Amino acid sequence: MDELETKLREQIVDVMAAMDVRGLNRGTSGNVSARFGDDVLITPTGIPPSALKPEHIVRMDAEGRYDPAGMKPSSEWLMHLKLLQLRPDANAVVHCHSRFATTLACANKPIPALHYMVAVSGGPSVPVAPYATFGSSDLAESVCEALAGQYAALMANHGQIVVAPGLRQALLIAEEVEEQAAVYWGTLAIGGATLLGDDEMTRISERFKSYGQKKK
Ligand code: 13P
Ligand code: ZN
Repeated sequence: MDELETKLREQIVDVMAAMDVRGLNRGTSGNVSARFGDDVLITPTGIPPSALKPEHIVRMDAEGRYDPAGMKPSSEWLMHLKLLQLRPDANAVVHCHSRFATTLACANKPIPALHYMVAVSGGPSVPVAPYATFGSSDLAESVCEALAGQYAALMANHGQIVVAPGLRQALLIAEEVEEQAAVYWGTLAIGGATLLGDDEMTRISERFKSYGQKKK
């Protein structure tokens, strides 16, 4: 195994651990994948982050084939594979059952433009992908549709999903979606949020392009 693959496997394990520690997931819920050339590296099914090791990560080809001597891939492997095929701009997928995102997803409520940080989702709001059974090709399709041109979406009666250029970014977006879901939930309890307009959200997206220590 080359150094790059080992490093990517370690990063996937770290993201699963971080989601656990930060309260975005519990038990064996959630899964993570990363593009590796023409292949995909994905978490195995049913292994909690506390027991997960880099050698457990499953390497899968574009047709979903993997070494049967190793672990079985996440039940959501098709969702990850299809998303990475759909989005050549992205190299990582993170899925979790974080509490507030899941609360809104169970109520079928997209997160509207209530705060400028909603724009980290890649659009003016975070949509809800229609419900389908976990691990099904219908769910893969539903999520792909919701994430066309978006980094993040809620998954009805399930959780949230993020596709991003890298693993670190995907984790940060998932954390921010959870924060905005919590804030939105809070505003619903006190009479609702005042929303930002489309023009303002477009301006914010433009600003994000040069935010931070990016080169001019
Ligand atoms: P896996 O353990 O198979 O990845 O399933 C967890 C999950 O969140 C299914 O949606
Ligand atoms: Zn799930």
